[in-house]
Amino acid sequence: MTSARKPAQKIQAPLLLANIGQLLTLRCASGKPGPRRGTDLQELGIVKDGAVLCVGGKIVSVGTTRDALRDPWLKKNRRKVTEIDCAGKVVIPGFVDSHTHPVFIGPRLVDFEKRIEGASYEEIAAAGGGIRSSLEGIRKASRTALAAKIATVLSEMAAHGTTTVEAKSGYGLTADSELKSLEAIRVAASYWPGTVVATLLGAHVVPTEFQGCSQKYVEIVCKVMIPQAATRKLAQFVDVFCDQGAFTAKETEQIFEVAKNRGLSVRAHVGQLSETALAPFLRFAPASLDHMDHVNQDDISQLAKQNTVATLVPGANYFLGLKQYPNARRFIDAGVPVALATDYNPGTSPTLSMPMAMSLACTQMKMSPAEAVAASTINGAWALRVANRKGSIEPGKDADLAIFSVDDYREIPYWFGANHCVATVLNGTVASRE
Ligand SMILES: [Zn+2]
Repeated sequence: MTSARKPAQKIQAPLLLANIGQLLTLRCASGKPGPRRGTDLQELGIVKDGAVLCVGGKIVSVGTTRDALRDPWLKKNRRKVTEIDCAGKVVIPGFVDSHTHPVFIGPRLVDFEKRIEGASYEEIAAAGGGIRSSLEGIRKASRTALAAKIATVLSEMAAHGTTTVEAKSGYGLTADSELKSLEAIRVAASYWPGTVVATLLGAHVVPTEFQGCSQKYVEIVCKVMIPQAATRKLAQFVDVFCDQGAFTAKETEQIFEVAKNRGLSVRAHVGQLSETALAPFLRFAPASLDHMDHVNQDDISQLAKQNTVATLVPGANYFLGLKQYPNARRFIDAGVPVALATDYNPGTSPTLSMPMAMSLACTQMKMSPAEAVAASTINGAWALRVANRKGSIEPGKDADLAIFSVDDYREIPYWFGANHCVATVLNGTVASRE
């Protein structure tokens, strides 16, 4: 990041997107409160030949181009308005990528090769690879260097249609380096016109120096990291990797309790490698439970009654070369709200592309393209507790939009591996690739 770069400006000229072939508003006719479940997950609220007017970073009107051009305010102020002729393209709410680990230094290419040769996640970790191999770089790096890395990732994400990102710490695993990671997220976020929601993932894995005495490490998380992150408002969420080889359900509850007392909301990585009973966590009203490859039916029925979102990250299954993916249909059919995220990280999911996550959701988890869109936008917003201002194109919400050069929204997951996002509007600021 150069010193000449200025923090993102918040005041924008009025902006009109017109001649949108398919405008996916994600407005839901059923009007049910809370995250989208069941058949509501397919409702995209499509307007043909649509238009969106944004003023001061907010959406002020949504409808057809014809109606927009008749608007008396627009007629009077047209010269002051920046117009984007979408020429039949598709416009959707900017993606809300609700699960990412962007604070790392380099790729993990040895792990990549070892896995191809047949080593398992646990074997790679036991050989000194995995999460622990990313620690040294973070511990040594300056906050400025980390912020520059994150800033690059955020602009790449915007280029793929993402306007809101959850960003976790979790590769430092000392109080100092976890807090430094959160500070770096804050610095990078201040230079990006989109929205970043920070999560403390001090409980990512037990660092080597605490092997065999994980409780001592949990105490550092509870007594230093969480209080500091809360007091300095460096994170909105606390996350725990609760799985075999990481933290136990008991330790997770202990960490959640402290987070709750400090006014931070919670989320967790669960069921990626083994099944964990989820019921004990529900009293903390987690915003999301993520991965969910291994879940029992009783927990699914419980989740269907909650606003906790099941965030599925098929990029990790793809990259690990797994044959099994989370059973999205089982969740959706039971009425559990489902979100999709990239899980962008150097070890198990090095992709920042939400269209790629959608494509995997469609082909490997049998989600329909419409469900994949809703899971990547409005339900991602629910998973971050920002659905009051993100995730759909409705008056009063933040002006977060993504323009795709396709004729039909189903082409977004269809053309896998290609980026058809041509421009993104982030809180009213236009970032164009053309
Ligand atoms: Zn993760």
